[in-house]
Amino acid sequence: MKKRPQSAANPGETPACAKCGACSAVCPVYRVTGREYHTGRGKLHLLEKLDPATASAAYAEILSRCLLCGACSAVCSRKIPVAAQLAAARAELNRSAGERALMRHLVGDLLARPRLLEILAPLARRFNSAPIPADSGLNLRLGLPPQPPARPEKPGEPAMASSTTTPYLFAGCYGTYLDPAIGQAVQSLLGKVGLEPPQRATGWGCCGLAAHSAGRLNEARRLARRNIAAHPGPAPIVVSCASCAAHLSHYPQLLADDEQWRPKAEEFAGRIKEFSLFLQENSADRPLSPASGQGPEAGPRLKILYHDPCHLRFMLPITKPPRELLAALPQIELVELPQGPRCCGHGGLFNLAHPADAEAILAELAAECRQSGAEIVTNTCSGCLLHWQKAAARQLVPARVLHLAILLDRLTSSRRS
Ligand code: SF4
Ligand code: SF4
Repeated sequence: MKKRPQSAANPGETPACAKCGACSAVCPVYRVTGREYHTGRGKLHLLEKLDPATASAAYAEILSRCLLCGACSAVCSRKIPVAAQLAAARAELNRSAGERALMRHLVGDLLARPRLLEILAPLARRFNSAPIPADSGLNLRLGLPPQPPARPEKPGEPAMASSTTTPYLFAGCYGTYLDPAIGQAVQSLLGKVGLEPPQRATGWGCCGLAAHSAGRLNEARRLARRNIAAHPGPAPIVVSCASCAAHLSHYPQLLADDEQWRPKAEEFAGRIKEFSLFLQENSADRPLSPASGQGPEAGPRLKILYHDPCHLRFMLPITKPPRELLAALPQIELVELPQGPRCCGHGGLFNLAHPADAEAILAELAAECRQSGAEIVTNTCSGCLLHWQKAAARQLVPARVLHLAILLDRLTSSRRS
């Protein structure tokens, strides 16, 4: 029996799988493929039996067929970090077989799928006004060829903070290059609850989640060191993207073997504040109030579906603050998916690697969204937003798709006192 790769997220002994099958019931991939080897249990079995050094293309294909959503670990009585083990196995495969072995399955045949490019084209056109840096995970997530960084960096050089107490805003690549209105909305909302405008770090970069998911551990660690150095403490770091928030909080595990950077990563992770939680905590004394004409008298209430990003639901976990922020507004009726929250099927790179599976997962959610009567779908994850926007563009859901910050900002008024 081969030694299982050790989890980058949970170094040390990992309990053995009991093969109980509890994870099968919640795996979104298994739900649409029906194949046992796509479940958490099936993939763990594969990791036990196969050696990445001699593994076949089928091994790489199965490793790629995971959303890294964390639903399996949430129900696992042994708390096996399946997603972290699979990410570690992807890194091991990259080391032994070269990146092409896995990348072929993650983004390799994008050009053969004109429908996908058709959807990505409007996003790609926006690159002209805000060029995406070469090492941004958006390049991977949009299926663009990964590129080396433009110039070597010295990650150990700390940046200078303009203020040691003003919160930083980390809007991530999506909120900076594809939809800057998100950062503006966060700033506006913080002002509405009486906080000063956040500062933006210089020298920040992609959080590294896409690199980590693709098994490019050295690149993910380089990006982590760069972000830590770019945010000198002790100011909190407000993160408007759910996936970035989860991954930035994961830096101590990512840098666990780095004696110099591990303590800095722990201090940095302790300052990460997911946007909805930060806003809720800071609006306790000065709650957001409805915009004029949007009070209880404004007619039928707006039906809003808040879709839980897996990274918030399972990894931080944060599920209540976004709903409570919305429910506090009188003109809102929160609706839920009839079968309850679950992954939308985007999975960062998964939707590029396995578009048919990703679309089957999305189609199920879209059908439930229609049943719920939602007029707006809201969320804070860049991947989920891209996927739901795809559903809206294809008229699978008759709803608008908005980042939670933009929605809350539109529904609330500016304070006069
Ligand atoms: S729930 Fe945990 S112990 Fe049970 S089969 Fe899945 S991974 Fe193994
Ligand atoms: S992380 Fe998600 S997609 Fe991957 S095996 Fe677990 S439940 Fe399935």
